[in-house]
Amino acid sequence: MAGRLLKDVVIAGGGVMGMSTAFNLTKFTHPSKICMLEPDPTYVRSASALSWASIRQQFSLAENIKLSQSSIKFIKDIDQYLRVQGEEDAIDINYKHGSYLFLAREETAHLLEENIAVQKEANVKVNRYSQSELKAKYPYLNLEDIVLGSDCGEDEGWFDPWLLLSAYKNKIKSLGVEIINARVAEFRPDKVLLVHNKTTNDTLTLHYNKFVNATGIHAKFTNNLLNEVLPSDSKFDLPVTPQRNFTFNIACKDGPANLPLTLCPLKTVIRSEGPNYIVKSSVGTLTDNQEELEDFGDVDDANFVEDIWENLAYRIPAFEATKILGGWVGYYEYNTLDQNALIGRHPAVADHYFINGFSGHGIQQSPAAGQCLAEIMCGVEPHLDIAALSLERVVENKPYRERNIL
Ligand SMILES: Cc1cc2nc3c(=O)[nH]c(=O)nc-3n(C[C@H](O)[C@H](O)[C@H](O)COP(=O)(O)OP(=O)(O)OC[C@H]3O[C@@H](n4cnc5c(N)ncnc54)[C@H](O)[C@@H]3O)c2cc1C
Repeated sequence: MAGRLLKDVVIAGGGVMGMSTAFNLTKFTHPSKICMLEPDPTYVRSASALSWASIRQQFSLAENIKLSQSSIKFIKDIDQYLRVQGEEDAIDINYKHGSYLFLAREETAHLLEENIAVQKEANVKVNRYSQSELKAKYPYLNLEDIVLGSDCGEDEGWFDPWLLLSAYKNKIKSLGVEIINARVAEFRPDKVLLVHNKTTNDTLTLHYNKFVNATGIHAKFTNNLLNEVLPSDSKFDLPVTPQRNFTFNIACKDGPANLPLTLCPLKTVIRSEGPNYIVKSSVGTLTDNQEELEDFGDVDDANFVEDIWENLAYRIPAFEATKILGGWVGYYEYNTLDQNALIGRHPAVADHYFINGFSGHGIQQSPAAGQCLAEIMCGVEPHLDIAALSLERVVENKPYRERNIL
């Protein structure tokens, strides 16, 4: 049976980007005119649920620092923004302070120096360490090839991504945003969408004024559906490709307590997770195979042994003795142009918007990114100047690179 619905705004994707955009749009648009499409309410393959959910201030670009500075305020005061009216219990997403620790060898020390200067300019409480200072503060590290390091005294840490997602969902539902268990299946000309409603098994025809692509690793595929109904001079290639990576949960009897999120050159990222640790290689595999995204599969311990262990134990010798407790496969929505967010209008089609391509630093920026997009959509000056992250740079092929990519 077919249904028909008219909405002012349709947001495809109910991860943190869709949620934050919807929440912020309710400040300008009546919530009943906003509809969100999310085909998987369990979020088993959504980056938002699989995320390490860490937040940092140590970026190389002022825009990324501003997005994280604005977002950390939201995260720390989340109860003030997302508590549902009438609820007695305060919202707590388990935010814990924990610094990122960047380590540089001789050949990259000048880049870290430049990043520290940008961060200081933006009032980030960044600390710069020589090798001997690092030795004193982090005695468990092997620093023989490290000449410089930095960490941050405040506003870096991690939280529970599922609690953030749930808090957003409860809030927007309580305000009256409609969430439909459906996937964008087809665009028709003149702002018409066909969606398959998985709850009722109906095909729904949705008429909309504004459309937001917040479909994470599926963003390019969703955009390709739109391209099918556009004239050739309006078609646009979204440079977002899923990037596969493995997270391992490991134990280490003599490992350091409260390990910062440590970037071990060349390619290993590790941090404390309660009494244990999560670790991954920062080198992922890109895939354009949509079928692969239907079944992520499981981690293979061999990947830990081949890609991570040697490098990790070199940097933190205590990890010579490590036990693998488990792990999971996740995909980043990787921006192949410059590994940076794409936030704003479609370059050629009015009333179509993107919030994609965050490449591993999305969940922390979602509060401010969604707010900026809602402001842009409603003709309000964005509260942060993020013009450099607009889609125009894709059309002009002018990458705007974040150097501190994990
Ligand atoms: C292992 C891992 C670790 C990470 N660690 C960090 C970190 O420490 N800090 C950080 O800031 N970021 C981190 N990230 C990145 C961050 O989690 C993402 O940038 C962020 O969650 C992206 O949110 P999203 O809403 O765009 O995507 P998603 O959460 O993937 O949501 C997109 C949604 O769109 C839905 N969808 C797909 N197709 C359609 C369709 N056709 N129609 C409608 N809906 C559709 C999907 O079901 C999905 O729920 C990490 C990511 C991973 C995978």
